[in-house]
Amino acid sequence: MAAVNFVDVRKSFGAVPVIKGVNVEIEDGEFVILVGPSGCGKSTLLRMLAGLENISAGEIRIGNRVVNTVPPKDRDIAMVFQNYALYPHMTVADNMAFSLNLKGTSKEEIGKRVKGAAEILGLSRLLDRYPRQLSGGQRQRVAMGRAIVRDPQVFLFDEPLSNLDAKLRVAMRAEIKELHQRLKTTTVYVTHDQIEAMTMADKIVVMHDGIVEQIGAPLDLYDRPANLFVAGFIGSPA
Ligand code: ADP
Ligand code: MG
Repeated sequence: MAAVNFVDVRKSFGAVPVIKGVNVEIEDGEFVILVGPSGCGKSTLLRMLAGLENISAGEIRIGNRVVNTVPPKDRDIAMVFQNYALYPHMTVADNMAFSLNLKGTSKEEIGKRVKGAAEILGLSRLLDRYPRQLSGGQRQRVAMGRAIVRDPQVFLFDEPLSNLDAKLRVAMRAEIKELHQRLKTTTVYVTHDQIEAMTMADKIVVMHDGIVEQIGAPLDLYDRPANLFVAGFIGSPA
């Protein structure tokens, strides 16, 4: 686990600024949701934190370490994407073990971690199956399993539920929260869905066009929106 800090972070693609001076403090163990309309810069911010995108100016810190130039593999972060491509020719167990195999973790340790993650996620009976033999929700759980086995300091989720149907989405929200309550890993979660943000977050960061409009607990934003944008965005259904 670790705190995460964005200090006056900026990002341009070519001459186009898309992140325009973002400051966010995330405490160790917090579940923080970045929310805002499509195109406001949520994924870019998350990708910079993961090291998948260079930062143009400012500072990103994980724990006490400035990670601006640290490559992704040295950041101790695990990311779950919207399109969680599982390896179709690998079993559930092998999908979960894959990144640990690459890192050279011992067979015994890998076995232990996969078993542990499978128990947490209710996948213990499915370890020998292939992705095509799983439901959408089960596949999503395998994608989370791949992140959990790495035991990272920070979890990143980028719209992990947007490919699921409405009913499953509600169930998975609860599962992800339970997971966080259990592991207490610092989590940064991106969604454009206000309801997801309001029901899951310890703290919400409302973004709009490359800036942060407001940061606060769900009820704070609801009761005391800083401006019309926040009031409109939080108040309107997804
Ligand atoms: P969100 O995740 O909030 O929908 P993104 O972070 O994906 O938004 O995108 C923010 C802005 O940056 C958008 O205007 C998008 O078109 C632009 N953008 C994202 N990635 C690139 C890229 N690789 N090259 C150029 N523009 C990009
Ligand atoms: Mg996005």
